[in-house]
Amino acid sequence: MNIIVLNSGSNGNAVYVESPVSGAAVLLDCGISCRQIELRLARHDRTPSGIHGIFITHEHADHVRGLPVMTKRNHIPTFLTDATWRRMHRNKPRFRHEFMGNTGTVRVADIEVRAIPKSHDAADPVSFLVTIQDVRFLYATDLGAYGSELTTIFADVDVALIESNYDEDMLTAGPYPPHLKHRIRSAHGHLSNLKAMELIGSHCNGRLRTLILGHLSANNNTPEVVLREFETAFASRSDLPPCVVVASRYDVGELISIQSSLS
Ligand SMILES: [Zn+2]
Ligand SMILES: [Zn+2]
Repeated sequence: MNIIVLNSGSNGNAVYVESPVSGAAVLLDCGISCRQIELRLARHDRTPSGIHGIFITHEHADHVRGLPVMTKRNHIPTFLTDATWRRMHRNKPRFRHEFMGNTGTVRVADIEVRAIPKSHDAADPVSFLVTIQDVRFLYATDLGAYGSELTTIFADVDVALIESNYDEDMLTAGPYPPHLKHRIRSAHGHLSNLKAMELIGSHCNGRLRTLILGHLSANNNTPEVVLREFETAFASRSDLPPCVVVASRYDVGELISIQSSLS
């Protein structure tokens, strides 16, 4: 499985996931402009022509901003839940779409994408589990809280992108008004660095090979703070993944390749 994080953060999210067997790809979220997606894919010698489907986690702008232009220019179907589409449709976006349930599974080419319901302040938000051959990738951001279904899946994946949105002290001391701080901390908000480390520390079981920490806040977090928290929390753990990456809010990441044991 090849993964390119095109952008991750409260300013925009898009992740390209490709099958090395068929060359087919899917896009998870489309929260940066079509132009930026094309430019960032080109940095890795890819084009949108290989994308067979765009999967949307929820209707917030940082996950759908580029969708109308992206689908129109490249004729790619979009998969999303009925409630997410209805919420978006209030703004009259035009794009070719197909519904998937919030526990549904869709297969495009040799890529399987399964939706997992999640707790966030959106119409019907989901995380995604992407499977190609025997390689499993969990994409879970915008989590106010997480339940046993997510932790069970997390314990059985090869690669995961987990939200590490804010540092508690920075949020407390920062400029946001009280109602916004409350919303971010709530069960329908975002996962703090501390809660992300709890999820990882309690449920990582040795299968995980690459951990991507993402969806960082601009005002309440930095990559350095996230990495410091990770290193402090897991200094004595030898079973945690050898590869830890903090996804960028501003630029495309490196190509992450996860080998299948079948190939
Ligand atoms: Zn978001
Ligand atoms: Zn959101």
